[in-house]
Amino acid sequence: MISPGTQERPLRVAIIGAGPTGFYAADQLLKQPKVVAEVDLFDRVPTPYGLVRAGVAPDHQKIKSVTAAFDKVAAHPRFSFFGGVDFGKDVTVDDLRRHYHQILYSTGAQTDRRMGIPGEDLAGSHPATEFVAWYNGHPDYRDCRFDLSQERAAVVGVGNVAVDVARVLCRSFEELATTDIADYALEALRESHIKEVYLLGRRGPAQAAFTNPEIRELGDLADADISVVPEEVELDLLSRAALEKSPDRATQKKVEILQGYALRKAGGKSRRLIVRFLVSPVELVGNEAGAVAAMKLVRNRLEATATGALQPKPTGVFEDLPAGLVFRSVGYKGVPLPGVPFNESGAVILNDKGRVLDPLTRQPVVGEYTAGWIKRGPTGVIGTNKPDAAETVECMMEDLAGGRALDPPEPSAEAVRRLIGQRQPRHFTYQDWLRLNEAEVARGRPLGRPRLKFTRVEDMHAALGR
Ligand code: NAP
Repeated sequence: MISPGTQERPLRVAIIGAGPTGFYAADQLLKQPKVVAEVDLFDRVPTPYGLVRAGVAPDHQKIKSVTAAFDKVAAHPRFSFFGGVDFGKDVTVDDLRRHYHQILYSTGAQTDRRMGIPGEDLAGSHPATEFVAWYNGHPDYRDCRFDLSQERAAVVGVGNVAVDVARVLCRSFEELATTDIADYALEALRESHIKEVYLLGRRGPAQAAFTNPEIRELGDLADADISVVPEEVELDLLSRAALEKSPDRATQKKVEILQGYALRKAGGKSRRLIVRFLVSPVELVGNEAGAVAAMKLVRNRLEATATGALQPKPTGVFEDLPAGLVFRSVGYKGVPLPGVPFNESGAVILNDKGRVLDPLTRQPVVGEYTAGWIKRGPTGVIGTNKPDAAETVECMMEDLAGGRALDPPEPSAEAVRRLIGQRQPRHFTYQDWLRLNEAEVARGRPLGRPRLKFTRVEDMHAALGR
């Protein structure tokens, strides 16, 4: 038997999850100099690009231009896309083992981390990830409701997602109206009564997870003034010592930007964005109607752990922050896939450099791999997933060369098309997506918007005339 990877017998690979990592991995597989691969990319939703479509903020259009590179990958003759096909429901691992030599999971981190405090589930308290998916028109989140009749919102966490949420809440209608934000979100935000948005960091300015372009952008909003509490952006002794010991230009710059905000006078804009540090919510307090009305915050100071990391320690000094809308933005979290070994504590697929491991033997599971956030956790920017996917693809090639791949009974594209045709006849091909894309762009043009997204699966079918 000749090993797969030749013209006559291509290496058949299934990739689950059509976000950036899925495309980077597909690209690397299709560009192998000595192996002829056929790649089938699956996604639960009809459209490709994962978080580039459903996560990247609508006012960050430039970042979305990375999709042009993904479209190039998709144009490869040995690439196929199956959108609207749910792994675990429409197709299982066992199905894939019948048709592929290798399977790669790149499903990202599909849920959010919790704060673990009383009141977290009150009405009006939401994961930031839901708000993000809502304003980006993800079909599963389009019907979420956020009480924008409130005047004060608080976002817990100071990562880039928290910044995105705060920025979208502070943007004027005019600023949002030229983006690809979902039409219902644009209308809801137009009616928003939000006047004040708080960003709450549990540690100090030097430990803030947001990056410098993102925090700088918050200072340039058309109709929102930014402010900080001057004492909270002064470096404490430990942070100062840490920065002196290992100077880090980006962190120094970040602190400078924040200290610059302390010197700003309010500019009379309609909204206020207040960035706080060294505070942790300990409880969300509800009103008679069971909705969040305020947060109880504890002030923190920093303490060094044995490894030198600076961690927040509560001081016992509390304050109340009235807020009728709360978003927790304390990180994404991976969810297990049916039939795939999972590391519960890390919320990632159990793996070594991308090779899925058997939980009992800790040995690689033949033919199964992972890449991206579900491999390493929800960190890094889009481009971080390129080297991450490359590491996994390298393992795949090494294993293939060593004869460690699946031996599927029906390794043909035709057999997969038949299977998907039966299991999910209403799936979407890349050709379908390209037509939807054109339709979205055409709908946006008269409005001066990059596109007007379809946010209902039924509308996508209708746009394709089915
Ligand atoms: P993140 O960068 O990990 O930030 C999480 C934030 O939550 C941190 O400030 C963290 O503080 C805080 N936090 C965690 N647990 C908390 C708790 N119990 N109470 C209070 N605060 C808590 O995660 P993310 O914002 O979800 O972003 C995920 C990744 O996507 C990041 O790599 C990010 O850079 C990237 N991203 C990039 C962009 C962009 O480039 N524009 C946009 C969006 C997302 P500690 O540091 O104290 O733990």
